[in-house]
Amino acid sequence: MKALVYHGPGKFEWEEKAEPVLHDPGEAIVRITRTTICGTDLHILKGDVPSVTKGRTLGHEGVGVIEKVGGAVSNFCVGDRVLISCITSCGRCENCRRQMYSHCEKGGWILGNRIDGTQAQMVRIPHADTSLYSVPAGADEEALLMLSDILPTAFECGVLNGAVKPGDTIAIIGAGPIGLATLLTAKLFSPAVIIVADTDTRRLQVARELGATHIVNSINSNGVPDILRLTAGKGVDVAIEAVGIPETFDACQQLVAAGGHIANIGVHGKGAMLHLDKLWDRNITLTTRLVDTAATGMLLKAVTSGALKPQPLITHRFGLSEIGKAYEVFGHAARDGALKVVMTAE
Ligand code: ZN
Ligand code: ZN
Repeated sequence: MKALVYHGPGKFEWEEKAEPVLHDPGEAIVRITRTTICGTDLHILKGDVPSVTKGRTLGHEGVGVIEKVGGAVSNFCVGDRVLISCITSCGRCENCRRQMYSHCEKGGWILGNRIDGTQAQMVRIPHADTSLYSVPAGADEEALLMLSDILPTAFECGVLNGAVKPGDTIAIIGAGPIGLATLLTAKLFSPAVIIVADTDTRRLQVARELGATHIVNSINSNGVPDILRLTAGKGVDVAIEAVGIPETFDACQQLVAAGGHIANIGVHGKGAMLHLDKLWDRNITLTTRLVDTAATGMLLKAVTSGALKPQPLITHRFGLSEIGKAYEVFGHAARDGALKVVMTAE
């Protein structure tokens, strides 16, 4: 089979690799029909994720068809169409028993990290019963692909951790795929004001089309003065960090209203200053989280029913063998106006 293999910082190749085999009776082998690229994959290619070693197949998002199942798998059969969760969970360890699947003692984020991932023709999925979801008949597979990672990440780390409520004023800092997925899933709770800030006018335009009540271009500032003006100086009930750099985390600290929430989603490569001298008496809550995918089943129903429509997040489509070209486009997202790129098996 073919797979996208990491060969050290800046180096990867779509190349021939041995087909995966079952290591344990609880596993399944899935033939990939669709996969996509995550911002995290770009971090890996820069060499920012030391757990990814040379020879690893990348990718932690995908939809496919079950090719083989181990004897202990009871929820799935050969031929079933499945959604692959970016988080693998055993369902039995202490952390899984409290729905903190991201910190599963035998799983967590391992696909395309500690074990071979989904940017391949086939992938081995450990703990298949608790790490895969059935694709409902007639479902839009491209839309479901957004459930592997970005929709649950945005919803759990941003919206649920930020405790977005009806009538709230919220600010989403960053209008990349995760920021826009936060916007889509925040609307499930009917906030009154949704402000989206970014430096890219095309992404802000998409945010507007997806329901942002206000957009703020933060190219010449961090967006804070404009957002404070929009809230009559009070700040926002929920400030959601969807970039992962000190400047945007800092903006959230300046924006949060008394009693508000700062919900961090961004993957931070370096430390950021926590301004407790300004925040100690503001009754705020600060949260961090790695997506647990505990909400995936619920979001799957929302997408299937049409209540949640992630299709506008998909901007580019390629064949699976054109994955190199897809990386080129996704890696120059601003130049090409790219959000999510979908690769479909030929
Ligand atoms: Zn991801
Ligand atoms: Zn577990």
